Amino acid sequence: MARVAIVTGGTRGIGEAISVGLKNAGYSVAANYCGNDERAKAFAERTGIAVYKWDVADFEQCQQGVAKVVADLGPVDIVVNNAGITRDGTMRKMARQGWDEVLDTNLGGCFNMCKATWEGMLTRSFGRVVNIGSINGQAGQYGQVNYAAAKSGIHGFTKALAQEGAPKGITVNAIAPGYIDTDMVAAVPANVLEKIVAKIPVGRLGHAEEIARGVLFLVADEAGFITGSTLSINGGQHMY
Ligand code: NDP
Repeated sequence: MARVAIVTGGTRGIGEAISVGLKNAGYSVAANYCGNDERAKAFAERTGIAVYKWDVADFEQCQQGVAKVVADLGPVDIVVNNAGITRDGTMRKMARQGWDEVLDTNLGGCFNMCKATWEGMLTRSFGRVVNIGSINGQAGQYGQVNYAAAKSGIHGFTKALAQEGAPKGITVNAIAPGYIDTDMVAAVPANVLEKIVAKIPVGRLGHAEEIARGVLFLVADEAGFITGSTLSINGGQHMY
């Protein structure tokens, strides 16, 4: 039987490439999303991948969403915590709400999704968790104290949970993407983006498929000795 994978935020951007990459590699995939029904519908029609709508920031919705995936596809072996948002602003301008939304979605979502799937992984002595962090969680970024804190938190979360999973056949790793050509980066002003690209040694933005490549590597059955790691995929932007 094919292993079952949930990709949060799996209907567009990096998540879409991860969902498609997993499907093409023979996994049974559930792609989660939160609000954009139109994009999710088009994605499902294009790829044949089942889509599930819930908010990863909501603990109960994650419990119910995962239960539905299990009922439809079977027990969950792989969770890719990819859903993420930005609410950028300098400290002077950032409202408490923008802090909470980013922390609750980007970091709280990882907790909620692991909580909903961890027992099953323990029971079956197998699991693969991949958390999508960010170069900005490693290095910080002007106007992103919320995002950088959440993404940096993901790296600590990954290392701590990896220790719990290690003796039980469950690996927990993170990927820290650099700048990737998705809707999220399209929101960055052109003049700022130009300066960012100038600092990427490879000389361009990354492609979502290049992050999916890393996910496929980490979720493989053969990757059982890789845990607690952060894989930086950033065109050489920072040599961490
Ligand atoms: P996009 O904005 O293109 O897509 C985000 C996806 O997450 C969408 O599918 C969206 O669903 C989903 N999502 C957002 N909030 C929630 C929520 N509360 N519950 C469930 N799903 C949600 O993002 P990217 O593809 O660019 O980014 C994907 C991940 O990679 C994020 O975690 C991001 O922080 C990280 N990253 C991205 C980088 C980049 O350069 N693009 C660089 C470093 C890290 P819907 O369609 O319904 O809105």
